[in-house]
Amino acid sequence: MEGHIQIITAIDHMQQQARRLLQTGKTIAFVPTMGYMHEGHLGLVREGREHGDTLIISIFVNPTQFGPAEDFQAYPRDLDRDVRLAASEGVDIIFAPEAEAMYDTAYQTYVDLELLPRYLCSASRPGHFRGVATVVTKLFNIVKPHVAIFGEKDYQQLVIIRRMVRDLHFDIRIIGVPIVREPDGLAMSSRNAYLSEEERESALSLFQAVQQAEKNVAQGVRDASQLIHEASELIRSYPYTKIEYVALCDPETLKNVDRVDGPTLIALAVWVGKTRLIDNTILEPIEN
Ligand code: AMP
Repeated sequence: MEGHIQIITAIDHMQQQARRLLQTGKTIAFVPTMGYMHEGHLGLVREGREHGDTLIISIFVNPTQFGPAEDFQAYPRDLDRDVRLAASEGVDIIFAPEAEAMYDTAYQTYVDLELLPRYLCSASRPGHFRGVATVVTKLFNIVKPHVAIFGEKDYQQLVIIRRMVRDLHFDIRIIGVPIVREPDGLAMSSRNAYLSEEERESALSLFQAVQQAEKNVAQGVRDASQLIHEASELIRSYPYTKIEYVALCDPETLKNVDRVDGPTLIALAVWVGKTRLIDNTILEPIEN
């Protein structure tokens, strides 16, 4: 059902609106996004609806989380379509600020975590999580949510946000939502729009590698290097793929593990042509 959706671009207007909602006793659920919405985002939106009287999403392609050689300019954008989709899912407010307003020319304050950003994606994306933690902090201060929803697709991001919320005493409940996939298993992503038809087939190798690891663990394989090796071989058997990392790590600290002795995160980042894709799951060894 299409409701009345409000689009707010001015930061002070959004803050004023959030204050007004809080004064009238409303709870606010918040879904931060970079837009170009797909079913993955809509899963978060639907979850958000369950957790607040007012549902706010942000659409902001955050320049500080992109490296100089990354796809900030090329990142797909379609605000009109996003507004239609959000309205049809019962979103109350879209906050879509301008980059110049979020970061003025004298801007100099950043939020950085000590350890969690050092693992997985940060080798190839230095500064990425500093940009993420900074923008999420700013958005929390503007939108003033009770609850914020993030996807497990960006697992490292979710762990970092949870840690940051604890460390900085944000009075906000963080909810993680499982990965939403295409019917064939490819994790939904705005960047899937970059893939050619042939690359799209190779992109499936990420999910297949994850599934293979699950199967191996179910059959009793515990050695991390063996699991990583087999996952990597599977991915390499597809054309256009270039592995950035395949890692097995502790789901909370993100430190690498040698063996799967308890719930273990398998996380991967793979280039398919010029598109960087990620996927993950928690491997759960069941002892017989
Ligand atoms: P993005 O617009 O890519 O920054 O994503 C916004 C939010 O949607 C993040 O919390 C992502 O983790 C989440 N998200 C993106 N794709 C998916 C997906 N396929 N399944 C679940 N959550 C997702």
